[in-house]
Parts: sequence; C-alpha cells; structure tokens
Amino acid sequence: MPEQKVVVVTGASSGIGAASARLLAQNGYQVFGGARDSRRANPIPGVKFGTVDVTDEQSVAKFVEWVLSEAGRIDVLINNAGVSLLGPIENTAIPEAALVFDTNVFGPLRMIRAVLPSMRAARSGLIINVSSVLGFLPAPFMGIYASSKHALEGLSESLDHEIREFNVRVVLLEPTFTNTKLDLNAAHTEAPLGVYTAQVEATIEAVQDQIKSAPSPQIVAEKIRAVIESPYRLRQPVGGQATLLSRLRRFMPAGAVDRSLRKTFGFSKNRSS
Ligand code: NDP
Repeated sequence: MPEQKVVVVTGASSGIGAASARLLAQNGYQVFGGARDSRRANPIPGVKFGTVDVTDEQSVAKFVEWVLSEAGRIDVLINNAGVSLLGPIENTAIPEAALVFDTNVFGPLRMIRAVLPSMRAARSGLIINVSSVLGFLPAPFMGIYASSKHALEGLSESLDHEIREFNVRVVLLEPTFTNTKLDLNAAHTEAPLGVYTAQVEATIEAVQDQIKSAPSPQIVAEKIRAVIESPYRLRQPVGGQATLLSRLRRFMPAGAVDRSLRKTFGFSKNRSS
C-alpha cells in the first residue's frame, strides 16, 4: 500500500480549512490541522490538531517541528488561515491593515520558510496558498483584503520559479464567495464611515446576498483534493463562477470589467464616463 501523504492545513478550526482537513483525512491522507487554540477546535476524525498562530514566528516553528517529529515529513502545506477587513481604504489605520497582511501574507511566508527545508531535502512537496477571486479582481471596501491576496499571488508566482528545481511547486487556490464565517469574523475599520456610508452599506448588502447563495466549503475542499491528485497548474479558480471571472479578467476589456464589478456591488456608473 502506498505511504499516506502528510498534509498540513492552517486555520483548520473552521470553514474551508476544517472541510478540507476532514475530506483529506477521509480519503487516506495523514492530516495535521493548525488552530490558534487547538484545545477549543472541534475534533475531526483522523485529524491531529496542533496550536499555531501564523502571525507568531515561534508558534509557527514549534508547530512545524511538532508535525515533522510526528510524521517525519510534510508532503503538502495548505496555507488556508486568513482574515478579512471591511471598510474604506481612506479610513483604514495602518495597524488595521498590518494585521491583515501579517496573517494573509506574512503568515504563509512564515509557514513556507519553516516547511521548505524539509521539502527541499526530500526533493518533493506541494504548497497550496489559499488566495481568492479578490486576489486577481479587487472589490471596493475590501481593498486591504484584496491587496493582501494580490501580494500572496505575487509571492506565490515568484516562489514557484525559485523552488521548482527542488521539485516543490506552489498552487494558488482561488475560491469565490464561500459560505463560511469569514464575513462574520471580518474586522470593520474603526473610523466612522462618513462620506462612504451609503456605498459601504450597498457593498455589505451585495456581499451578504452573494454569501447566502455561495457554495459550501465542501466544494473548495473537493477542489483542494483534486489539486493534490491532478497534474500541476499554478492558478486554480474554484468552481464555474471563479473560472469565468478569471477568464473575464484576462480577456475582457478593462472598461467592461469595471462596469460589471460596479453593478455587482450596487454602485452607480462612473461619474467621469
Ligand atoms: P473562516 O473565518 O471560517 O476561517 C478562517 C480560519 O483562519 C480560522 O480557522 C481561523 O482560526 C484561522 N486564522 C485566522 N487568523 C489566524 C492566525 N493568526 N493564525 C492561525 N490561524 C488563523 O474563513 P474561511 O474558511 O472562509 O477562510 C479560509 C481561507 O479562505 C482564507 O484565507 C480566506 O481568505 C479564503 N477565502 C475565503 C472565501 C470566502 O468567501 N469564505 C473566498 C475566497 C477565499 P481561529 O479559529 O483561530 O480564528
């Protein structure tokens, strides 16, 4: 019988991370889930939980050392942990933005730096970075979140060139809205909304509508399994809508993309056009 692949999933305590950890464990993978408080994470059959806060270098180092001491290697790293921030860019305080980048960009970077030496030594590995449709198509009032996912996209593409010769590859997973607690958990910029109030409210309404009819995290988990088990491709939009948006972004004229995005978020037409 082939050896079980060892998979590490950060943010395995809820949403996409929990669904992925469960599905992979059900399908014969040896799964290690990271949670900020592993004692409070709901147990998932076949998943070993450890504590990791991806904003904390020491916590990341300890977690990865623990997995390596238990399993001897890491075949797949899924950088899933992430946070969102809603609010106008003008009103965003730097510490609010910094926390998003610390989690969504430097978090994966810390995990990658901790895991790569063992993957390079084994001359084998796959790193799946959970980006978003907002990683290639920015939306209003989620500008800091969108820019963190754009940064993750750039980091991933560069890294993939650097580590390919060691037989380690990087995948960008690009889900569209998914029915998780990301939105409920999202921080809101603290400063009063002021002149942006009506537009922010329209955006929040549009996002809530999208989330209501959004696919479950199970769909993303199934895509993650398919990514691990299928031939390599850097960008992996999840589902029909994300694939369509990815194509539209690449092939549609910029003006048409701009108009369609403003319509989706309940905005008026551009004043200057
Ligand atoms: P959830 O809020 O349900 O899950 C987020 C997870 O990240 C939680 O397990 C949380 O752990 C963990 N997390 C947050 N901060 C840290 C940290 N500092 N260290 C370690 N873990 C942390 O949201 P989703 O499941 O939706 O999000 C998972 C990923 O999917 C994110 O990267 C998100 O950007 C991405 N995504 C989500 C979409 C959506 O519509 N839901 C769409 C596209 C991408 P804890 O329990 O400790 O809080």
